[in-house]
Amino acid sequence: MAGMAAAAQLLHGQQSGRRLRYCMVGLGRISMQHFMPACRASQFSRVTALVSGHRDKADRMAAEYGIPAKNIYSYENYNAIADNPEIDAVYIALPNSMHAEYTIRAARAGKHVLCEKPMATKVADAQAMVDACRKAGRKLMVAYRCQLEPATVRAMQLIRQGKLGTIESIESSNGFNIKAGEWRLDGVLGGGGPLMDVGIYSLNACRFLTGEEPAEFKAQSSVIDRDGRFTQVEENLAWTMKFPAGRLAACNTSYGASLPGFFRVHGSKGMLHMDAAFGYQGQHLTGKVQGEPDIDFATGAKDPAHFVDEADHFSQCVFQNKEPVAPGEEGLRDMRHMDAIYKSCGLKGL
Ligand code: NAD
Repeated sequence: MAGMAAAAQLLHGQQSGRRLRYCMVGLGRISMQHFMPACRASQFSRVTALVSGHRDKADRMAAEYGIPAKNIYSYENYNAIADNPEIDAVYIALPNSMHAEYTIRAARAGKHVLCEKPMATKVADAQAMVDACRKAGRKLMVAYRCQLEPATVRAMQLIRQGKLGTIESIESSNGFNIKAGEWRLDGVLGGGGPLMDVGIYSLNACRFLTGEEPAEFKAQSSVIDRDGRFTQVEENLAWTMKFPAGRLAACNTSYGASLPGFFRVHGSKGMLHMDAAFGYQGQHLTGKVQGEPDIDFATGAKDPAHFVDEADHFSQCVFQNKEPVAPGEEGLRDMRHMDAIYKSCGLKGL
């Protein structure tokens, strides 16, 4: 059925020949190395405009993607995208604290918004983003690409079908050893440390795997490396969450060590384990379920496949006026949960 739906969508796009026209807001690693190549490889998406503070970089990317000079904007004249009919949507790939302003300005300019995670650095900003897009009648999606990743979708299906029995607990981690000088270490731009940047994947996974909202949080954070990197944000953060039915989740994140991106789900009738759960490729789902052959599923998809799926999903949502898999409200829920986690650590909330 899913295959038929996908085929029908593809046919719809091919027949109409339409591609959503994206304006890149921020030309950094994620936009230049992943999202722009993904649009080039996609069915329903293309890049038609750029916003950058570095004109030389913007000119270079414009030449590579056949973007006319009139479609290159700076942060100052960004509001003028309102007058450009060659832009349908923006992709916000700026430091976290800038997501809110550039989302709200895009909505006011009448453009749809695909915004990188974390959605914002303050709960109030995330709410303002949702409100602005709703008021403008424009779609807002938070770029939780894992929710569209096929092995992850398989894991969700197995759980929803009850194959694991009652879900009792989940474990997950995600972390890396950060270099000095990154904006991610700035308390304002990052809004927080590894929880905001990479721990959010574990948080989001626990929510989409259970399909429930966590109700109680216990958390601890620490700084071990006194080398100047962690004067404004936490280095390590470990937290547990209790879901209303009693399911427990234990998660770990770090900017001081390379923690594997994984999740493991334990149910009364079996377990699932996802390796490379949050990476750009290499997802590998294994598991054991009573009365079923061993689960061993890897798509073999290569980067930027996730970003192709993400861009085209949002494009199709706009074309067909459908709700995205991760609308603004989804990002807002994670913001509220991260606020609770930080407060449980004794740190300032979001
Ligand atoms: P980056 O540092 O590579 O790029 C950031 C861009 O913002 C650059 O073009 C930079 O010039 C611009 N910028 C504008 N004002 C700035 C300022 N005051 N300070 C620093 N840069 C400024 O970052 P990135 O890794 O591309 O991350 C961008 C966003 O994408 C972040 O929110 C991040 O969490 C998210 N991200 C998502 C994924 C994913 O898999 N979904 C992966 C990486 C990053």
